[in-house]
Amino acid sequence: MPGRARPPALALDLFRMALPFKISTLLYGFSARDEVLLLERAQEPNLGQWSPCGGKLKTQAGESPYACACREAHEEIGVALTPADLHLTGIISEHGYQGQAHWLMFLFEVKRRLVELPPPIREGRFAFFPRAALGDLSLPQTDREMIWPLFWRHRGGFFAAHCHTHADGRNDWTVEESTAAPRPPAREPAASQTHLPDQKLDALVPVVDLHSDDHFMTEALRQARRAFAAGEVPVGAVIVREGRVIARAFNQVELLKDATAHAEMLALTQAQAAVGDWRLNDCTLYVTKEPCPMCAGAIVHARIGRVVFGASDPKAGAAGSALNLLQFPTLNHRCAITGGVQLEVCRRMLRDFFAEQRNKNGD
Ligand SMILES: [Zn+2]
Repeated sequence: MPGRARPPALALDLFRMALPFKISTLLYGFSARDEVLLLERAQEPNLGQWSPCGGKLKTQAGESPYACACREAHEEIGVALTPADLHLTGIISEHGYQGQAHWLMFLFEVKRRLVELPPPIREGRFAFFPRAALGDLSLPQTDREMIWPLFWRHRGGFFAAHCHTHADGRNDWTVEESTAAPRPPAREPAASQTHLPDQKLDALVPVVDLHSDDHFMTEALRQARRAFAAGEVPVGAVIVREGRVIARAFNQVELLKDATAHAEMLALTQAQAAVGDWRLNDCTLYVTKEPCPMCAGAIVHARIGRVVFGASDPKAGAAGSALNLLQFPTLNHRCAITGGVQLEVCRRMLRDFFAEQRNKNGD
């Protein structure tokens, strides 16, 4: 009714609805040790508190949240990302945050592991923290009470949540969508695996984190590049135990004048020395090319739990292409196999190497 005074609470609510809506991205980046990268804010808001980096969308320019996240990653932590490097873990809307604005926040996990601690920026300084250390840090209130618990619960999955902040500082949270991380091995089983009954396959595949498969294959590729530079067939391998690389090696047949000096063989020896045992059941071997029969035999002898390879080898591959020694029915150990990780990069490196060799030989 015109002219009628509004109750103060309603007036406040109407005032709040007129607040600007600000859109931002937050970047959850992790190190190889799965420690999260946080920024200690040197400015308000959240001065002196630790939070993921990120920033506001250029809304006037019509920037997408993914483009904003890539731009912020470049500006703040010096990492060049594409939208394919990001996983949207959550969307949070905050109604009337600190009475100043409504916020819409896109929470992205950076799928690639961060290699180095970024230098300080105008907004503050960076540090990596294990999840367990967050309890002792100074964190913004909404981060502590809801955003971190939501993030950890949905990491790899998705959630949407809304927070209604009241004048007295109370926050009402509503989780509007909640999807847990997909159950691990979603990857297509290699042709070689299909003869195993599903139940057996489950038993063979303990935990498969596709993010970390990419990450550790990148480490194996780093080794392969060293082989390439040394004029060796470019194959690299790393062995990972409890999320850590315990062995890394590249093919050194020419250098050592030893036909058995394949990357996998050298890595197995290193890993056994690191563990202090010849049994490597809880280890995963990453190799850029499908293992040959010699290496596959050694892998089975060492009881490697899981083998992840990049390029397959139709002529000599012993992980399912030419034959499958890793899952040979009469042997007493079988490995889980994931093929095709970073397939194109692995394949290209081998192709480039052999093309170069042919050029050198003038044919
Ligand atoms: Zn081999």
